[in-house]
Amino acid sequence: MTTILEASAGTVPAEFEKLDDRFDGIRGDARLERLWTGGRWLEGPVYSPAGRYLLFSDIPNDRILRWDETSYQTSVFREPAGNTNGHTLDEQGRLISCEHGNRRVTRTGHDGRIRVLADNWDGKRLNSPNDVVVGPDGAVWFTDPAYGIDSDYEGFKGEIETDGCHVYRISPDGKVSRVADDFARPNGLAFSNDRSMLYITDTEEATIRVFTVEGDRLSGGELFAECGNGAFDGIRLDDQGRIWGSAADGVHVYHPDGSLLGKLLVPETVSNLTFGGPKRNRLFLTATTSLYSLHTTVTGGPQPYDAR
Ligand code: MG
Repeated sequence: MTTILEASAGTVPAEFEKLDDRFDGIRGDARLERLWTGGRWLEGPVYSPAGRYLLFSDIPNDRILRWDETSYQTSVFREPAGNTNGHTLDEQGRLISCEHGNRRVTRTGHDGRIRVLADNWDGKRLNSPNDVVVGPDGAVWFTDPAYGIDSDYEGFKGEIETDGCHVYRISPDGKVSRVADDFARPNGLAFSNDRSMLYITDTEEATIRVFTVEGDRLSGGELFAECGNGAFDGIRLDDQGRIWGSAADGVHVYHPDGSLLGKLLVPETVSNLTFGGPKRNRLFLTATTSLYSLHTTVTGGPQPYDAR
């Protein structure tokens, strides 16, 4: 039986803070819809254009929730869920999940079966995969900080077996390689729209760094932005290449040249965000206890499953 959780929880005013004239025209509704509330710490929103739903993680409660765009109802999609955190869809539209509790990255097939893509590096267990993106060749790139093993709150308390918190790539043939090893706590990641660059946040340093993608390797890693309020967690790009980063006071929007253009202020600390809806112009935010959305004047960037 499907349990329907309490539906839409009202609206709150949406406030934008302009910091650069290039923020003009980047607006949205005058209100944020609080689509659902009652979580403990929400992350990992992923929108399914084919299914017209949004999945998101309620990590400490160990469940994946599903908000239905056609009914506005939220229900439990998977529980227990291995304390999932970040999600994405691959080039076939299959769900890729980071699981804190099982210390692994998995893929849910069209047949519903869950297949492990990575649970170790060089024979040592991963920490607690946090966020994930899929590259143009089908490779899966993910971050592996230790938030899921620091305590029992977001997973299971445990030891770091690899020698730190790093970034990894799973090649299409299943091989796991380490692609960055100089982060404190790597977290959110997002490709530039032409897939030539990869932006990665560090929640301990409160930064976004930008790397050049060279096939199966990364180079560079220069500082792109420093967060002035809290730390960046999840990031997404719009179709003009602007970088939208979650922060303690809401969402910070950056021009690709690194300028902070403005902010969307949100009443709860934002963890992750994604663009969705049939026109990809609806911004979904997981923010502490609540799921919010806002229709914007911009649209999200390309996805691996586009035009397939
Ligand atoms: Mg994260």
